[in-house]
Amino acid sequence: MTAPAALEILNDVFGYPSFRGRQAEIVETLAGGKSLLVLMPTGGGKSLCYQIPALMRGGVAVVVSPLIALMNDQVANLRAAGVHCAAVHGGTPPDDVRQIADDIAAGRLKLLYVSPERLVGERFLRFLDHTAVSLFAIDEAHCVSQWGHDFRPEYRQLGLLADRYPQVPRIALTATADAETRADIKHYLKLENSPEFVASFDRPNIYYQVVEKNNGKKQLLQFIQGQMAGQSGIVYCLSRKKVDDTAAFLCENGLDAVAYHAGMTMQQREAAQYRFTHEDGLIVVATVAFGMGIDKPDVRFVAHLDMPQSIEHFYQESGRAGRDGLPAVSWLCYGLNDWVILRERILEGQSGEFQKNIELQKLDAMLAVCETAECRRVMLLRHFGEHSEPCGHCDNCLHPPVRFDGTLLVQKLLSCIYRVGQCFAAGYVINVLRGKADDWIRDNRHQELSTFSIGADLTDKDWRAVVRQSIGLGLLQVDSQHHHRLLLTEAARDVLKNRRTVMLRPLKRDKAAGQKPKEEWLRTEREERLWQALRKWRQERARAEEIPAYMVCGDKTLRDIVEKMPRGLDGLRSIYGLGEAKIDKFGDEILEVLDSANA
Ligand code: ADP
Ligand code: ZN
Repeated sequence: MTAPAALEILNDVFGYPSFRGRQAEIVETLAGGKSLLVLMPTGGGKSLCYQIPALMRGGVAVVVSPLIALMNDQVANLRAAGVHCAAVHGGTPPDDVRQIADDIAAGRLKLLYVSPERLVGERFLRFLDHTAVSLFAIDEAHCVSQWGHDFRPEYRQLGLLADRYPQVPRIALTATADAETRADIKHYLKLENSPEFVASFDRPNIYYQVVEKNNGKKQLLQFIQGQMAGQSGIVYCLSRKKVDDTAAFLCENGLDAVAYHAGMTMQQREAAQYRFTHEDGLIVVATVAFGMGIDKPDVRFVAHLDMPQSIEHFYQESGRAGRDGLPAVSWLCYGLNDWVILRERILEGQSGEFQKNIELQKLDAMLAVCETAECRRVMLLRHFGEHSEPCGHCDNCLHPPVRFDGTLLVQKLLSCIYRVGQCFAAGYVINVLRGKADDWIRDNRHQELSTFSIGADLTDKDWRAVVRQSIGLGLLQVDSQHHHRLLLTEAARDVLKNRRTVMLRPLKRDKAAGQKPKEEWLRTEREERLWQALRKWRQERARAEEIPAYMVCGDKTLRDIVEKMPRGLDGLRSIYGLGEAKIDKFGDEILEVLDSANA
Protein backbone atom coordinates (compact mmCIF):
# COMPACT_ATOMS: atom_id res chain seq x y z
CA MET A 1 0.00 0.00 0.00
CA THR A 2 1.45 3.38 -0.90
CA ALA A 3 1.31 6.17 1.64
CA PRO A 4 -1.46 8.68 0.99
CA ALA A 5 -0.30 11.94 -0.50
CA ALA A 6 -0.14 15.08 1.60
CA LEU A 7 -2.91 16.90 -0.22
CA GLU A 8 -5.22 13.93 0.08
CA ILE A 9 -4.74 13.90 3.85
CA LEU A 10 -5.31 17.64 4.03
CA ASN A 11 -8.61 17.24 2.16
CA ASP A 12 -9.92 14.01 3.66
CA VAL A 13 -8.78 14.20 7.26
CA PHE A 14 -8.74 17.92 7.93
CA GLY A 15 -11.25 19.01 5.32
CA TYR A 16 -9.16 21.92 4.01
CA PRO A 17 -8.94 22.53 0.27
CA SER A 18 -5.33 23.70 -0.05
CA PHE A 19 -2.09 24.30 1.79
CA ARG A 20 -1.26 27.73 3.09
CA GLY A 21 1.96 29.58 2.36
CA ARG A 22 4.92 27.24 2.57
CA GLN A 23 3.11 24.37 4.30
CA ALA A 24 3.31 22.11 1.24
CA GLU A 25 7.11 22.45 0.94
CA ILE A 26 7.54 21.93 4.65
CA VAL A 27 5.39 18.80 4.69
CA GLU A 28 7.26 17.40 1.71
CA THR A 29 10.66 18.05 3.29
CA LEU A 30 9.77 16.45 6.59
CA ALA A 31 7.89 13.53 5.06
CA GLY A 32 10.96 12.99 2.88
CA GLY A 33 13.02 12.43 6.03
CA LYS A 34 14.85 15.77 6.34
CA SER A 35 15.14 17.91 9.47
CA LEU A 36 14.15 21.57 9.36
CA LEU A 37 13.29 24.75 11.22
CA VAL A 38 9.97 26.54 10.71
CA LEU A 39 9.15 30.12 11.64
CA MET A 40 5.53 31.09 11.28
CA PRO A 41 3.40 33.68 13.03
CA THR A 42 0.82 32.62 15.58
CA GLY A 43 -2.16 31.25 13.73
CA GLY A 44 -0.10 30.56 10.63
CA GLY A 45 -0.76 26.83 10.70
CA LYS A 46 2.29 25.20 12.23
CA SER A 47 0.59 22.08 13.55
CA LEU A 48 -0.33 20.64 10.17
CA CYS A 49 3.34 20.89 9.16
CA TYR A 50 4.15 17.87 11.30
CA GLN A 51 0.70 16.29 11.71
CA ILE A 52 0.42 15.48 8.03
CA PRO A 53 3.94 13.96 7.72
CA ALA A 54 3.09 11.96 10.86
CA LEU A 55 0.19 10.42 8.94
CA MET A 56 2.35 9.84 5.85
CA ARG A 57 5.24 8.06 7.55
CA GLY A 58 5.37 4.73 9.36
CA GLY A 59 5.70 4.68 13.14
CA VAL A 60 4.66 7.19 15.77
CA ALA A 61 5.50 10.89 15.69
CA VAL A 62 6.77 12.29 18.99
CA VAL A 63 5.75 15.90 19.57
CA VAL A 64 7.41 17.93 22.33
CA SER A 65 5.20 20.62 23.75
CA PRO A 66 5.82 22.86 26.77
CA LEU A 67 2.29 23.09 28.17
CA ILE A 68 -0.24 20.50 29.17
CA ALA A 69 -3.10 22.70 28.02
CA LEU A 70 -1.51 22.95 24.61
CA MET A 71 -1.10 19.18 24.34
CA ASN A 72 -4.63 18.42 25.45
CA ASP A 73 -6.00 20.90 22.97
CA GLN A 74 -4.07 19.38 20.09
CA VAL A 75 -5.04 15.85 21.06
CA ALA A 76 -8.72 16.77 21.28
CA ASN A 77 -8.55 18.50 17.89
CA LEU A 78 -6.86 15.56 16.21
CA ARG A 79 -9.27 13.06 17.74
CA ALA A 80 -12.17 15.11 16.45
CA ALA A 81 -10.63 14.64 13.00
CA GLY A 82 -10.37 10.88 13.61
CA VAL A 83 -6.61 10.69 14.17
CA HIS A 84 -5.23 8.30 16.82
CA CYS A 85 -3.04 10.21 19.24
CA ALA A 86 -2.32 10.67 22.94
CA ALA A 87 -0.42 12.86 25.40
CA VAL A 88 1.99 11.91 28.18
CA HIS A 89 3.20 14.33 30.84
CA GLY A 90 3.97 14.43 34.56
CA GLY A 91 0.31 14.13 35.45
CA THR A 92 -0.59 11.13 33.27
CA PRO A 93 -1.67 8.15 35.48
CA PRO A 94 0.60 5.06 35.15
CA ASP A 95 -2.28 2.93 33.83
CA ASP A 96 -2.83 5.37 30.98
CA VAL A 97 0.88 5.38 30.22
CA ARG A 98 0.88 1.58 29.99
CA GLN A 99 -2.12 1.65 27.66
CA ILE A 100 -0.42 4.23 25.47
CA ALA A 101 2.77 2.12 25.35
CA ASP A 102 0.69 -0.88 24.27
CA ASP A 103 -1.03 1.15 21.58
CA ILE A 104 2.32 2.32 20.25
CA ALA A 105 3.74 -1.21 20.25
CA ALA A 106 0.69 -2.37 18.30
CA GLY A 107 1.18 0.45 15.80
CA ARG A 108 -2.18 2.02 16.67
CA LEU A 109 -0.93 5.50 17.57
CA LYS A 110 0.18 8.05 14.96
CA LEU A 111 1.13 10.95 17.26
CA LEU A 112 2.34 11.14 20.83
CA TYR A 113 2.54 14.50 22.61
CA VAL A 114 5.04 14.58 25.43
CA SER A 115 6.44 17.15 27.86
CA PRO A 116 10.19 17.90 27.50
CA GLU A 117 11.10 16.63 30.96
CA ARG A 118 9.31 13.35 30.33
CA LEU A 119 10.97 12.89 26.97
CA VAL A 120 14.56 13.34 28.13
CA GLY A 121 14.15 10.90 31.05
CA GLU A 122 16.22 7.75 30.57
CA ARG A 123 13.19 5.46 30.94
CA PHE A 124 11.33 7.15 28.17
CA LEU A 125 14.37 7.19 25.90
CA ARG A 126 14.90 3.45 26.46
CA PHE A 127 11.31 2.93 25.41
CA LEU A 128 11.87 5.01 22.29
CA ASP A 129 14.98 2.98 21.47
CA HIS A 130 12.69 0.06 20.69
CA THR A 131 9.97 2.04 18.97
CA ALA A 132 9.59 3.04 15.35
CA VAL A 133 9.55 6.84 15.53
CA SER A 134 8.39 8.59 12.36
CA LEU A 135 9.60 12.05 13.34
CA PHE A 136 10.27 14.40 16.25
CA ALA A 137 8.44 17.72 16.32
CA ILE A 138 9.65 20.35 18.78
CA ASP A 139 6.89 22.89 19.20
CA GLU A 140 7.44 26.36 20.71
CA ALA A 141 11.13 25.85 19.99
CA HIS A 142 12.03 29.35 21.26
CA CYS A 143 11.75 27.86 24.79
CA VAL A 144 15.32 26.71 24.19
CA SER A 145 16.59 30.28 24.26
CA GLN A 146 17.02 32.79 27.02
CA TRP A 147 16.29 35.47 24.46
CA GLY A 148 12.83 34.09 23.93
CA HIS A 149 10.43 35.01 26.70
CA ASP A 150 9.51 31.48 27.81
CA PHE A 151 12.88 29.90 28.57
CA ARG A 152 12.64 26.22 29.62
CA PRO A 153 15.97 24.64 30.62
CA GLU A 154 14.77 21.11 29.69
CA TYR A 155 14.52 22.23 26.09
CA ARG A 156 18.30 22.56 26.01
CA GLN A 157 18.65 18.79 26.34
CA LEU A 158 16.58 18.06 23.27
CA GLY A 159 19.75 18.17 21.18
CA LEU A 160 20.32 14.59 22.33
CA LEU A 161 17.60 13.46 19.92
CA ALA A 162 19.90 14.27 17.03
CA ASP A 163 22.68 12.07 18.41
CA ARG A 164 20.58 9.22 19.67
CA TYR A 165 18.21 8.96 16.68
CA PRO A 166 20.17 10.26 13.70
CA GLN A 167 17.84 8.67 11.13
CA VAL A 168 14.69 10.27 12.53
CA PRO A 169 13.87 13.67 10.98
CA ARG A 170 13.24 16.56 13.37
CA ILE A 171 11.17 19.69 12.91
CA ALA A 172 11.46 22.70 15.22
CA LEU A 173 8.63 25.25 15.13
CA THR A 174 8.23 28.72 16.61
CA ALA A 175 6.53 32.05 16.15
CA THR A 176 9.33 34.11 17.70
CA ALA A 177 11.60 35.43 15.06
CA ASP A 178 14.53 37.45 16.26
CA ALA A 179 18.02 36.51 15.16
CA GLU A 180 19.42 35.57 18.58
CA THR A 181 16.58 33.18 19.31
CA ARG A 182 16.90 31.63 15.91
CA ALA A 183 20.63 31.06 16.39
CA ASP A 184 20.01 29.45 19.78
CA ILE A 185 17.40 27.10 18.36
CA LYS A 186 19.75 25.93 15.64
CA HIS A 187 22.61 25.50 18.03
CA TYR A 188 20.90 23.69 20.88
CA LEU A 189 18.65 21.55 18.70
CA LYS A 190 21.50 20.73 16.33
CA LEU A 191 19.83 22.09 13.24
CA GLU A 192 22.80 24.09 11.97
CA ASN A 193 22.79 22.38 8.62
CA SER A 194 19.06 22.12 8.16
CA PRO A 195 16.91 24.29 5.91
CA GLU A 196 14.91 27.12 7.42
CA PHE A 197 11.38 27.95 6.32
CA VAL A 198 10.31 31.44 7.23
CA ALA A 199 6.72 32.33 6.54
CA SER A 200 5.48 35.84 6.09
CA PHE A 201 4.47 37.35 9.40
CA ASP A 202 1.58 39.18 7.84
CA ARG A 203 -1.85 38.46 9.28
CA PRO A 204 -3.97 40.02 6.58
CA ASN A 205 -7.34 39.34 8.22
CA ILE A 206 -6.46 41.36 11.32
CA TYR A 207 -7.53 44.99 11.31
CA TYR A 208 -5.20 47.14 13.42
CA GLN A 209 -6.63 50.02 15.34
CA VAL A 210 -4.78 52.20 17.85
CA VAL A 211 -6.42 54.82 20.04
CA GLU A 212 -5.04 57.30 22.53
CA LYS A 213 -6.17 56.73 26.07
CA ASN A 214 -8.34 59.18 27.92
CA ASN A 215 -10.73 56.96 29.82
CA GLY A 216 -9.51 53.52 28.84
CA LYS A 217 -12.30 51.41 30.32
CA LYS A 218 -15.00 53.52 28.75
CA GLN A 219 -13.25 53.47 25.39
CA LEU A 220 -12.99 49.70 25.65
CA LEU A 221 -16.68 49.38 26.43
CA GLN A 222 -17.57 51.54 23.44
CA PHE A 223 -15.32 49.51 21.20
CA ILE A 224 -16.84 46.20 22.29
CA GLN A 225 -20.44 47.38 22.26
CA GLY A 226 -20.03 49.22 19.00
CA GLN A 227 -18.04 46.74 16.97
CA MET A 228 -17.76 43.42 18.74
CA ALA A 229 -21.05 42.68 20.49
CA GLY A 230 -21.50 38.99 21.31
CA GLN A 231 -18.04 38.00 20.07
CA SER A 232 -15.23 36.13 21.81
CA GLY A 233 -12.30 38.31 22.73
CA ILE A 234 -9.32 38.81 24.99
CA VAL A 235 -8.55 42.05 26.82
CA TYR A 236 -5.00 42.46 28.10
CA CYS A 237 -4.12 44.73 31.04
CA LEU A 238 -0.79 45.41 32.73
CA SER A 239 -1.77 44.65 36.34
CA ARG A 240 -3.89 42.13 38.21
CA LYS A 241 -5.87 44.85 39.89
CA LYS A 242 -6.74 46.41 36.59
CA VAL A 243 -7.79 43.00 35.28
CA ASP A 244 -10.23 42.57 38.16
CA ASP A 245 -11.55 46.12 37.84
CA THR A 246 -12.02 45.89 34.12
CA ALA A 247 -13.74 42.51 34.18
CA ALA A 248 -16.13 43.78 36.85
CA PHE A 249 -16.77 46.95 34.86
CA LEU A 250 -17.61 45.03 31.69
CA CYS A 251 -19.96 42.73 33.61
CA GLU A 252 -21.72 45.70 35.23
CA ASN A 253 -22.32 46.95 31.74
CA GLY A 254 -24.02 43.77 30.68
CA LEU A 255 -21.14 42.02 28.91
CA ASP A 256 -20.11 38.44 29.55
CA ALA A 257 -16.57 38.75 30.93
CA VAL A 258 -14.26 36.83 33.29
CA ALA A 259 -10.89 37.70 34.81
CA TYR A 260 -7.69 35.69 34.50
CA HIS A 261 -4.36 36.35 36.21
CA ALA A 262 -1.64 34.59 38.16
CA GLY A 263 -3.04 35.79 41.49
CA MET A 264 -6.12 33.59 41.10
CA THR A 265 -6.18 29.96 42.23
CA MET A 266 -5.38 27.24 39.73
CA GLN A 267 -9.02 26.15 39.84
CA GLN A 268 -10.36 29.61 39.12
CA ARG A 269 -7.97 29.99 36.22
CA GLU A 270 -8.83 26.64 34.75
CA ALA A 271 -12.52 27.41 35.04
CA ALA A 272 -12.05 30.72 33.21
CA GLN A 273 -10.03 29.07 30.49
CA TYR A 274 -12.54 26.24 30.13
CA ARG A 275 -15.39 28.68 29.71
CA PHE A 276 -13.44 30.72 27.19
CA THR A 277 -12.59 27.76 24.98
CA HIS A 278 -15.96 26.05 25.31
CA GLU A 279 -18.31 28.98 24.99
CA ASP A 280 -19.09 31.10 22.07
CA GLY A 281 -19.01 34.75 23.07
CA LEU A 282 -17.04 35.18 26.26
CA ILE A 283 -14.54 37.96 26.96
CA VAL A 284 -11.49 37.13 29.06
CA VAL A 285 -9.78 40.07 30.75
CA ALA A 286 -6.24 38.97 31.55
CA THR A 287 -2.65 39.75 32.25
CA VAL A 288 -0.13 38.39 29.77
CA ALA A 289 -0.22 35.16 31.78
CA PHE A 290 -3.19 34.18 29.63
CA GLY A 291 -2.94 32.92 26.12
CA MET A 292 -0.06 30.58 25.48
CA GLY A 293 -1.48 27.19 24.71
CA ILE A 294 -4.94 28.46 23.99
CA ASP A 295 -5.69 27.65 20.43
CA LYS A 296 -9.18 28.99 19.96
CA PRO A 297 -9.51 29.83 16.28
CA ASP A 298 -12.56 32.10 16.48
CA VAL A 299 -11.28 34.80 18.84
CA ARG A 300 -12.72 37.86 17.07
CA PHE A 301 -10.78 40.57 18.87
CA VAL A 302 -7.78 41.16 21.08
CA ALA A 303 -7.80 44.45 22.97
CA HIS A 304 -4.81 45.93 24.76
CA LEU A 305 -6.00 48.29 27.44
CA ASP A 306 -2.37 49.19 28.14
CA MET A 307 0.58 49.43 25.82
CA PRO A 308 2.52 46.15 25.49
CA GLN A 309 6.21 46.14 26.37
CA SER A 310 7.46 45.21 22.91
CA ILE A 311 6.31 44.63 19.36
CA GLU A 312 7.05 40.93 19.85
CA HIS A 313 4.63 40.78 22.77
CA PHE A 314 2.06 42.82 20.94
CA TYR A 315 2.25 40.65 17.85
CA GLN A 316 2.04 37.39 19.72
CA GLU A 317 -0.91 38.58 21.78
CA SER A 318 -2.84 40.28 18.99
CA GLY A 319 -2.07 37.25 16.80
CA ARG A 320 -4.44 35.20 18.94
CA ALA A 321 -7.28 36.91 17.10
CA GLY A 322 -8.64 35.43 13.89
CA ARG A 323 -6.68 32.22 13.57
CA ASP A 324 -9.53 30.92 11.44
CA GLY A 325 -8.71 33.51 8.80
CA LEU A 326 -12.00 35.39 9.19
CA PRO A 327 -11.96 39.13 9.91
CA ALA A 328 -10.69 40.02 13.37
CA VAL A 329 -9.63 43.21 15.15
CA SER A 330 -6.58 44.17 17.16
CA TRP A 331 -7.51 47.19 19.27
CA LEU A 332 -4.85 49.01 21.26
CA CYS A 333 -5.36 51.85 23.71
CA TYR A 334 -2.21 53.61 24.87
CA GLY A 335 -1.11 56.60 26.86
CA LEU A 336 2.11 58.22 27.94
CA ASN A 337 1.64 56.84 31.44
CA ASP A 338 1.80 53.26 30.15
CA TRP A 339 5.13 54.01 28.61
CA VAL A 340 6.42 55.59 31.81
CA ILE A 341 5.27 52.63 33.95
CA LEU A 342 6.82 50.11 31.58
CA ARG A 343 10.12 52.00 31.55
CA GLU A 344 10.12 51.95 35.30
CA ARG A 345 9.48 48.21 35.38
CA ILE A 346 12.41 47.61 33.07
CA LEU A 347 14.75 49.86 35.00
CA GLU A 348 13.78 48.33 38.34
CA GLY A 349 13.94 44.79 36.94
CA GLN A 350 16.52 42.11 37.59
CA SER A 351 18.21 42.11 34.19
CA GLY A 352 21.70 43.44 33.60
CA GLU A 353 22.50 46.80 32.02
CA PHE A 354 22.86 45.35 28.54
CA GLN A 355 19.56 43.51 28.67
CA LYS A 356 17.80 46.58 30.05
CA ASN A 357 18.96 48.61 27.10
CA ILE A 358 17.55 46.04 24.71
CA GLU A 359 14.26 46.13 26.57
CA LEU A 360 14.11 49.93 26.51
CA GLN A 361 14.70 49.92 22.77
CA LYS A 362 11.97 47.36 22.27
CA LEU A 363 9.60 49.52 24.30
CA ASP A 364 10.39 52.59 22.21
CA ALA A 365 9.80 50.61 19.03
CA MET A 366 6.34 49.77 20.35
CA LEU A 367 5.63 53.41 21.13
CA ALA A 368 6.68 54.31 17.61
CA VAL A 369 4.06 51.92 16.20
CA CYS A 370 1.43 53.61 18.37
CA GLU A 371 2.51 57.09 17.37
CA THR A 372 3.02 56.55 13.67
CA ALA A 373 0.98 58.16 10.93
CA GLU A 374 2.23 55.47 8.54
CA CYS A 375 0.55 52.13 7.80
CA ARG A 376 0.64 50.12 11.04
CA ARG A 377 1.22 46.85 9.20
CA VAL A 378 4.17 48.22 7.25
CA MET A 379 5.81 49.20 10.54
CA LEU A 380 5.03 45.92 12.29
CA LEU A 381 6.31 43.80 9.43
CA ARG A 382 9.40 45.96 9.04
CA HIS A 383 10.20 45.13 12.62
CA PHE A 384 10.25 41.45 11.66
CA GLY A 385 12.50 42.18 8.71
CA GLU A 386 9.77 42.12 6.08
CA HIS A 387 9.18 44.77 3.47
CA SER A 388 5.55 45.51 2.55
CA GLU A 389 3.30 48.10 0.95
CA PRO A 390 0.60 50.09 2.80
CA CYS A 391 -2.11 47.56 3.58
CA GLY A 392 -5.31 49.52 3.13
CA HIS A 393 -6.67 47.64 6.13
CA CYS A 394 -5.55 49.49 9.25
CA ASP A 395 -6.76 52.68 10.89
CA ASN A 396 -4.02 54.84 9.40
CA CYS A 397 -4.54 53.49 5.87
CA LEU A 398 -8.30 53.93 6.00
CA HIS A 399 -8.28 57.28 7.77
CA PRO A 400 -4.86 58.82 7.09
CA PRO A 401 -4.08 61.38 9.77
CA VAL A 402 -3.25 64.72 8.18
CA ARG A 403 -0.20 66.24 9.79
CA PHE A 404 0.04 69.90 10.65
CA ASP A 405 2.92 72.25 11.35
CA GLY A 406 3.32 71.99 15.12
CA THR A 407 6.63 73.82 15.38
CA LEU A 408 5.28 76.64 17.51
CA LEU A 409 3.55 74.28 19.95
CA VAL A 410 6.65 72.15 20.31
CA GLN A 411 8.79 75.25 20.81
CA LYS A 412 6.51 76.37 23.62
CA LEU A 413 6.84 72.98 25.25
CA LEU A 414 10.60 72.71 24.85
CA SER A 415 11.25 76.19 26.07
CA CYS A 416 9.03 75.66 29.10
CA ILE A 417 10.96 72.52 29.95
CA TYR A 418 14.15 74.51 29.66
CA ARG A 419 12.83 77.29 31.91
CA VAL A 420 11.85 74.90 34.68
CA GLY A 421 15.43 73.63 34.64
CA GLN A 422 14.64 70.22 33.08
CA CYS A 423 13.72 69.06 36.58
CA PHE A 424 10.01 68.23 36.23
CA ALA A 425 7.73 65.60 34.77
CA ALA A 426 5.14 66.13 32.04
CA GLY A 427 2.20 66.87 34.37
CA TYR A 428 4.03 69.74 36.02
CA VAL A 429 5.31 71.25 32.79
CA ILE A 430 1.83 71.12 31.29
CA ASN A 431 0.36 72.90 34.31
CA VAL A 432 2.90 75.68 33.88
CA LEU A 433 2.09 75.93 30.17
CA ARG A 434 -1.61 76.06 30.86
CA GLY A 435 -1.25 78.58 33.67
CA LYS A 436 -2.53 76.30 36.41
CA ALA A 437 -0.62 77.62 39.37
CA ASP A 438 -0.84 75.08 42.19
CA ASP A 439 1.04 75.32 45.50
CA TRP A 440 4.02 73.51 44.12
CA ILE A 441 4.34 75.84 41.17
CA ARG A 442 3.94 78.84 43.45
CA ASP A 443 6.60 77.49 45.84
CA ASN A 444 8.94 77.32 42.88
CA ARG A 445 7.78 80.75 41.69
CA HIS A 446 7.22 79.29 38.28
CA GLN A 447 4.14 81.42 37.72
CA GLU A 448 6.65 84.19 37.05
CA LEU A 449 8.24 82.43 34.09
CA SER A 450 7.76 83.82 30.60
CA THR A 451 6.33 80.46 29.53
CA PHE A 452 3.69 80.45 32.25
CA SER A 453 0.25 80.24 30.68
CA ILE A 454 1.44 80.47 27.05
CA GLY A 455 -0.39 77.24 26.30
CA ALA A 456 -3.74 77.97 27.93
CA ASP A 457 -5.57 77.44 24.65
CA LEU A 458 -4.85 73.69 24.65
CA THR A 459 -6.31 71.06 26.96
CA ASP A 460 -4.23 68.84 29.19
CA LYS A 461 -4.91 65.94 26.85
CA ASP A 462 -3.73 67.91 23.80
CA TRP A 463 -0.50 68.83 25.54
CA ARG A 464 0.06 65.22 26.46
CA ALA A 465 -0.22 64.36 22.80
CA VAL A 466 2.42 66.99 22.00
CA VAL A 467 4.72 65.58 24.70
CA ARG A 468 4.26 62.04 23.44
CA GLN A 469 4.92 62.93 19.87
CA SER A 470 7.97 64.96 20.85
CA ILE A 471 9.35 61.90 22.63
CA GLY A 472 8.55 59.77 19.62
CA LEU A 473 10.38 62.28 17.40
CA GLY A 474 13.45 62.17 19.62
CA LEU A 475 13.17 65.76 20.87
CA LEU A 476 12.62 64.78 24.48
CA GLN A 477 13.77 62.12 26.87
CA VAL A 478 12.21 60.97 30.10
CA ASP A 479 14.59 60.46 32.99
CA SER A 480 13.14 57.56 34.92
CA GLN A 481 15.82 57.76 37.59
CA HIS A 482 14.58 61.22 38.60
CA HIS A 483 10.80 61.23 38.81
CA HIS A 484 10.33 61.10 35.04
CA ARG A 485 11.63 64.60 34.52
CA LEU A 486 11.65 65.70 30.91
CA LEU A 487 15.03 66.39 29.32
CA LEU A 488 15.81 68.13 26.04
CA THR A 489 17.87 66.25 23.48
CA GLU A 490 20.40 67.58 20.99
CA ALA A 491 17.69 67.58 18.33
CA ALA A 492 15.54 69.86 20.48
CA ARG A 493 18.07 72.62 20.07
CA ASP A 494 17.43 72.84 16.31
CA VAL A 495 13.74 73.25 16.95
CA LEU A 496 14.26 75.95 19.55
CA LYS A 497 16.59 77.83 17.22
CA ASN A 498 14.03 77.72 14.42
CA ARG A 499 16.24 75.53 12.26
CA ARG A 500 13.72 72.75 11.96
CA THR A 501 9.96 72.47 11.48
CA VAL A 502 8.05 69.80 13.30
CA MET A 503 5.06 68.13 11.71
CA LEU A 504 2.61 66.63 14.18
CA ARG A 505 -0.27 64.24 13.91
CA PRO A 506 -3.64 65.79 14.78
CA LEU A 507 -3.95 66.15 18.53
CA LYS A 508 -7.53 65.00 18.40
CA ARG A 509 -8.33 61.84 16.56
CA ASP A 510 -10.82 61.92 13.78
CA LYS A 511 -13.93 60.12 15.12
CA ALA A 512 -14.21 58.03 11.99
CA ALA A 513 -10.73 56.64 12.58
CA GLY A 514 -12.14 54.70 15.50
CA GLN A 515 -14.38 52.66 13.22
CA LYS A 516 -13.36 49.48 11.56
CA PRO A 517 -14.76 48.76 8.10
CA LYS A 518 -18.14 47.10 8.01
CA GLU A 519 -18.15 43.31 7.89
CA GLU A 520 -18.60 42.55 4.20
CA TRP A 521 -20.59 39.40 4.77
CA LEU A 522 -24.18 40.59 4.85
CA ARG A 523 -26.65 37.79 5.30
CA THR A 524 -30.09 37.64 3.83
CA GLU A 525 -32.89 36.90 6.24
CA ARG A 526 -32.91 33.26 5.25
CA GLU A 527 -29.14 33.00 5.59
CA GLU A 528 -29.29 34.64 8.98
CA ARG A 529 -31.87 32.08 10.12
CA LEU A 530 -29.69 29.23 8.91
CA TRP A 531 -26.57 30.74 10.49
CA GLN A 532 -28.28 31.00 13.86
CA ALA A 533 -29.71 27.47 13.58
CA LEU A 534 -26.24 26.08 12.81
CA ARG A 535 -24.68 27.95 15.71
CA LYS A 536 -27.35 26.64 18.05
CA TRP A 537 -26.80 23.10 16.82
CA ARG A 538 -23.04 23.49 17.27
CA GLN A 539 -23.41 24.77 20.82
CA GLU A 540 -25.68 21.84 21.78
CA ARG A 541 -23.40 19.32 20.16
CA ALA A 542 -20.35 20.79 21.90
CA ARG A 543 -22.10 20.63 25.24
CA ALA A 544 -23.13 17.02 24.71
CA GLU A 545 -19.61 15.98 23.73
CA GLU A 546 -17.95 18.24 26.30
CA ILE A 547 -15.67 19.72 23.69
CA PRO A 548 -15.25 23.36 22.61
CA ALA A 549 -17.75 24.60 20.06
CA TYR A 550 -15.04 25.29 17.50
CA MET A 551 -13.93 21.67 17.59
CA VAL A 552 -17.34 20.59 16.35
CA CYS A 553 -16.70 23.00 13.53
CA GLY A 554 -15.39 26.53 13.14
CA ASP A 555 -17.15 29.73 12.13
CA LYS A 556 -15.57 29.47 8.72
CA THR A 557 -17.13 26.05 8.19
CA LEU A 558 -20.59 27.29 9.20
CA ARG A 559 -20.19 30.27 6.93
CA ASP A 560 -19.21 28.04 4.03
CA ILE A 561 -22.30 25.91 4.63
CA VAL A 562 -24.57 28.95 4.62
CA GLU A 563 -23.00 30.24 1.41
CA LYS A 564 -22.93 26.96 -0.47
CA MET A 565 -26.14 25.34 0.84
CA PRO A 566 -24.72 21.89 0.17
CA ARG A 567 -27.00 19.01 -0.74
CA GLY A 568 -26.46 15.48 0.50
CA LEU A 569 -23.37 14.04 2.15
CA ASP A 570 -21.46 14.49 -1.07
CA GLY A 571 -22.11 18.20 -1.03
CA LEU A 572 -20.57 18.40 2.43
CA ARG A 573 -17.22 17.16 1.09
CA SER A 574 -16.63 20.52 -0.54
CA ILE A 575 -17.20 22.39 2.71
CA TYR A 576 -14.20 23.99 4.36
CA GLY A 577 -13.08 22.13 7.50
CA LEU A 578 -15.21 19.00 7.05
CA GLY A 579 -13.10 15.86 6.71
CA GLU A 580 -14.38 12.28 6.46
CA ALA A 581 -14.51 11.74 10.23
CA LYS A 582 -16.61 14.84 10.80
CA ILE A 583 -18.91 14.09 7.88
CA ASP A 584 -19.48 10.58 9.28
CA LYS A 585 -20.23 11.96 12.66
CA PHE A 586 -22.12 15.16 12.00
CA GLY A 587 -23.07 15.03 8.32
CA ASP A 588 -26.64 13.84 8.75
CA GLU A 589 -27.32 16.28 11.55
CA ILE A 590 -26.02 19.22 9.53
CA LEU A 591 -28.23 18.27 6.62
CA GLU A 592 -31.20 18.05 8.99
CA VAL A 593 -30.51 21.54 10.32
CA LEU A 594 -30.35 22.76 6.71
CA ASP A 595 -33.66 21.08 5.89
CA SER A 596 -35.57 22.39 8.86
CA ALA A 597 -34.20 25.93 8.58
CA ASN A 598 -35.16 26.00 4.91
CA ALA A 599 -38.59 24.52 5.51
P1 ADP B 1 -0.18 27.98 14.91
O1 ADP B 1 0.18 26.77 15.73
O2 ADP B 1 0.80 28.30 13.86
O3 ADP B 1 -0.58 29.15 15.75
P2 ADP B 1 -2.31 26.33 14.06
O4 ADP B 1 -1.52 25.19 13.62
O5 ADP B 1 -3.04 26.23 15.35
O6 ADP B 1 -1.46 27.64 14.08
O7 ADP B 1 -3.32 26.71 12.90
C1 ADP B 1 -4.17 27.82 13.03
C2 ADP B 1 -5.53 27.51 12.41
O8 ADP B 1 -5.42 27.45 10.99
C3 ADP B 1 -6.08 26.18 12.86
O9 ADP B 1 -7.48 26.33 13.09
C4 ADP B 1 -5.81 25.28 11.67
O10 ADP B 1 -6.71 24.21 11.60
C5 ADP B 1 -5.95 26.24 10.50
N1 ADP B 1 -5.19 25.84 9.31
C6 ADP B 1 -3.89 25.47 9.27
N2 ADP B 1 -3.52 25.16 8.00
C7 ADP B 1 -4.60 25.36 7.22
C8 ADP B 1 -4.87 25.23 5.81
N3 ADP B 1 -3.95 24.82 4.94
N4 ADP B 1 -6.12 25.52 5.38
C9 ADP B 1 -7.05 25.92 6.25
N5 ADP B 1 -6.88 26.06 7.56
C10 ADP B 1 -5.67 25.79 8.06
ZN1 ZN C 1 -2.21 49.92 6.72
